[in-house]
Amino acid sequence: MAPKTCGIQIGPDCFVDEGIDPVLDILVQKGSVDTLYLSTFTYDRGIIGRTWGKDFPGHGIDASDKGYFHGGNYATPHAKFYTGTAIKGEKLKAPDFGDRDMLAEVLPNARSRGMKVICSIQDGFAYPADMPFVEDMHEIDLQGRKSGALCFFNPDVREFWTSVARDLCSSYDIDGVLLFNERNGPLLNAIGASHAQLIDSAGVTCFCEHHRRAAEARGIDFQRAKEGYVELNKFVQQALRDQRPSDGYYVAFERLMLRYPEIMAYNQLFDVGKHRILKDVYTAVKGIRSELQVGFHIEHTNSFNPLYRASRDYAELAGLADFLKVVEYNNCGGERYVNFIHNICQTVFRDVPPGELMQMNNHLLNYAHEAPIETLAAAGLSPDYVLRETQRAVEGVGGKCRILPGIDVNIPTGEKSRKASPEDTYEATLSAFKGGADGVILSRKYSEMRLDNLAAAGRAVREGRLS
Ligand SMILES: [Zn+2]
Repeated sequence: MAPKTCGIQIGPDCFVDEGIDPVLDILVQKGSVDTLYLSTFTYDRGIIGRTWGKDFPGHGIDASDKGYFHGGNYATPHAKFYTGTAIKGEKLKAPDFGDRDMLAEVLPNARSRGMKVICSIQDGFAYPADMPFVEDMHEIDLQGRKSGALCFFNPDVREFWTSVARDLCSSYDIDGVLLFNERNGPLLNAIGASHAQLIDSAGVTCFCEHHRRAAEARGIDFQRAKEGYVELNKFVQQALRDQRPSDGYYVAFERLMLRYPEIMAYNQLFDVGKHRILKDVYTAVKGIRSELQVGFHIEHTNSFNPLYRASRDYAELAGLADFLKVVEYNNCGGERYVNFIHNICQTVFRDVPPGELMQMNNHLLNYAHEAPIETLAAAGLSPDYVLRETQRAVEGVGGKCRILPGIDVNIPTGEKSRKASPEDTYEATLSAFKGGADGVILSRKYSEMRLDNLAAAGRAVREGRLS
């Protein structure tokens, strides 16, 4: 059996701010870290950048990076890998640190300590307006508006992600890639069924020509799907205006789903596109060197929403990746779960008191010991949640791929929400090992972690490795 690993998500900015060797020393000594998940291609502040606001972690630079943060590729992109796509990847070098190639700089120092380096690659919700050559790559919503996200069914977009992975895995002596994509399908977007989003039921997904062709290839009536989403948009907008259907919100919603099965089919199409990119990247990376590792980040919605959970079949995902990073952020999970319940209670479950819906949802999700909705944000989700979600994932993949839970280390929360003590972090980390995890990935990014919490995670890792 492979030894249990401890990885950490870290942005290249941390090495610029604090120095490469001092940071690596801290990670090894305090966190027992053996693998860096280095944010290498991203435009998203979730895995890169200093903490916003005034809540600095006691290391690094106590100032905002808003003045310079841009995003892009923090390694050196090579043109020859992007010849198969209209997205000129070689022009997407992140300008944040000038010509510095942070992957090339960090690699030898990490290697000399025996650490592995996996590059995190993230598809985001919005790309900067100055991103070149992507004018026709964006999603087009119900009303013909261009979204900030790239369409999965555009062949250039599909090829682009493979190109990024191929470039990094061929040009550098790395150990693999971790793919991030937190975008949800259109049904979930329309009804507000996640913790993070605003409800924008007209802007739910893409209805471009590439999408039409992909739908038709799967026997989905594109026009009917579009009509279904127009009707769903009306339903949601009426709900938000408090115009209750005579049969109630839930019945009206279910009637719409019966009348337009294309709504669900088109939602699944989104996941098909998302998983196809994972498969493309997996195949390309394994073609370079079979020992390179490919991982996939399973986002937090998986912890709250049973419908989303149904769309993430661990047995199926196990065939597409060497490891799954399953988000099990317990501390911030409290307020995020509350947000999810309040979101879904604005639309489909508008007739249900939020506290009662949460109780029922806890039964569906197999959460037995969580605080009620009134106090959950202040309490956070428990270490028992981490244990249960780890066990479920481990059972789900049936030994076919490794499960590396993402552990919450000082992920920012609202003013009145729980701030994790070192003991909280210790308990959560240990719970992942008790649940049978193959290791952990300390998340979301080193730049927001307090060193005493990092040390507490490291203590649990040392115990977990012995278990
Ligand atoms: Zn499209």
